[in-house]
Amino acid sequence: MSPVSYPYEAPQSQSLFDRASVVTPGGVNSPVRAFRAVGGTPRFMVSGTGPYLTDADGREYVDLVCSWGPMILGHAHPAVLDAVRDAVSRGTSFGTPGQGEVELAEEIVARVAPVEQVRLVSSGTEATMSAIRLARGFTGRAKIVKFAGCYHGHVDALLAAAGSGLATFGLPDTPGVTGAQAGDTIVLPYNDLAAVEAAFRAHPGEIACVITEASPGNMGVVPPLPGFNGGLARLCRENGALFVSDEVMTGFRVSKAGWYGLEAAHEGWAPDLLTFGKVMGGGFPAAAFGGRADVMAHLAPAGPVYQAGTLSGNPIATAAGLAQLRGCTDEVYAAVDRVAAEVSGLVSAALVKEGVTHRLQTAGNMFSVFFTEDAVTNYDEAKTQESFRFTAFFHAMLSRGVYLPPSAFESWFVSSAHDERAIERIAAALPAAARAAAEATAAA
Ligand code: PLP
Repeated sequence: MSPVSYPYEAPQSQSLFDRASVVTPGGVNSPVRAFRAVGGTPRFMVSGTGPYLTDADGREYVDLVCSWGPMILGHAHPAVLDAVRDAVSRGTSFGTPGQGEVELAEEIVARVAPVEQVRLVSSGTEATMSAIRLARGFTGRAKIVKFAGCYHGHVDALLAAAGSGLATFGLPDTPGVTGAQAGDTIVLPYNDLAAVEAAFRAHPGEIACVITEASPGNMGVVPPLPGFNGGLARLCRENGALFVSDEVMTGFRVSKAGWYGLEAAHEGWAPDLLTFGKVMGGGFPAAAFGGRADVMAHLAPAGPVYQAGTLSGNPIATAAGLAQLRGCTDEVYAAVDRVAAEVSGLVSAALVKEGVTHRLQTAGNMFSVFFTEDAVTNYDEAKTQESFRFTAFFHAMLSRGVYLPPSAFESWFVSSAHDERAIERIAAALPAAARAAAEATAAA
């Protein structure tokens, strides 16, 4: 049990959570929303505007989750709402090709140079699942490499994160994933090129692809060490495997061309396949995978690798995504970067003032705080942090109207709508939250 007490009530959220818990496992439709890592009552939100969310009890929060990344322009952005209204007035799904899909695909291809062709899907999970199937179909190989602490959605083969060290075969992390489904997954420590080299040596001609978060945000923010991603691209090339860069979180968020635009474009290498989601859907279920045209040509109906979706390229989702991407100008990215630097700087300063040991880690405009002394470069190091301090910090912020990700192992997200008023609210909440983190003690 968490030693934190919850100094305020949320009766409407509690009542909705009670009802939800009767009809939905754990009361939520995606586990981290349930506040299990931090305790307390999950907030049921009823509306969002700009940088703010309002819950069922009428309390307003500055939102530092942004729907886990998608809402880069803030909530209810007028251009996105107009596009949705316009699209919805013409019908909601046709089951045929449509103009919006073409335009969204063209926008993605224009932004991310290695993406010559793209296939639209409805979730990041579908994107990574399909990219892995395509990599296997293209290479005729079965094994895949992933890194501990990287999350790629709830694809069976990618829920194997247990075990590390050289060429450790993944043990399923969850009941329901069989040894057969996870047995071709090799899980390696993040940022460890030597481990990848050893895996290729141990399994010559067997590895279809290496998949990595372009810059991980799902164990907290743990950026790739210089040369790591480029090294992965080289090792894949030398060994006839594909390099799959998962940009579901970073894509169109950290720059116009995602993490690729920040790193690879300057270093002169490119992933073979990339996956996208979140920002490209404008708050609707839209995601994608794409890359080299010769690889994508293996996808049905052009090629033999099957992949499909009833709602893929849905006209409302593509309209929302296109409007949001078109709104993501250089000025918007500059604003998001500025807000991220300001907020993360304020958080760190408040913790320093209270003498709280921590590391602020950043990757472009994504950031998170680890309650630990040393820089975090992989999942094992991430797990050494004093996450009980985060729990205290989280609830102190929540009670003062700032909504953080309800886990110490998540990235924080800001938007171009986070203005001075929102930042002042965060600044006002921080001293007490930093004090709460300083005074927190581990549960017995
Ligand atoms: N890949 C990454 C890097 C993610 O962060 C996520 C979700 O958080 C996914 C894939 C899965 O996306 P979705 O939740 O849309 O299935």
